[in-house]
Order: sequence, then structure tokens, then C-alpha cells
Amino acid sequence: MEQAALADDRPREAAGHARGVLGPVAEAAADLLATADFTLVKRCEDETCVLWFSDQTKSHHRRWCSPALCGNRHKVAAYRKRRRAEGA
Ligand SMILES: [Zn+2]
Repeated sequence: MEQAALADDRPREAAGHARGVLGPVAEAAADLLATADFTLVKRCEDETCVLWFSDQTKSHHRRWCSPALCGNRHKVAAYRKRRRAEGA
């Protein structure tokens, strides 16, 4: 009986500790979720990319997770396509 009580106490203790540590973090996350503008959260337009980003640009026309990575990849692909179409 003593052993059962001990085993039963451990998870409760761990959960209490986790709550104490995660409390402020959870509060901040909840605050962010409550105030964040999800209309600005977009998925990168690159088909092979799985990243999402928050569009903080003024025009809100951002298309890529990173202009240097996916944006540039798209630019190069568009250039190659154009060159092919021109028969070069
Ligand atoms: Zn991307």
C-alpha cells in the first residue's frame, strides 16, 4: 500500500513542477496567440518548402520564408524558364 502511494505521488509532483516552470511561458504563448494577427501568417510559396512565416512587410505581399533562399530559387527558376522559352 505504501509503495502504491509513493508511485502515485511522483507524477503529481512532476506535473506541479512543470506547471511552475512553464507557467510564465504558457502565459506568454497564450498572450501571443490572443494578440497575434494570423492573417499575416503565410506559407512559403515554394512548393518544396514547408516553412511558414509572419508577413511583417508593409505591403503584406511577402511570398517566401526567405528572399535569399526560396525567393532566389524562384528567381533562378523563372530566369531559366525564360531562357528556355527564348530558345537560348
Ligand atoms: Zn521557403
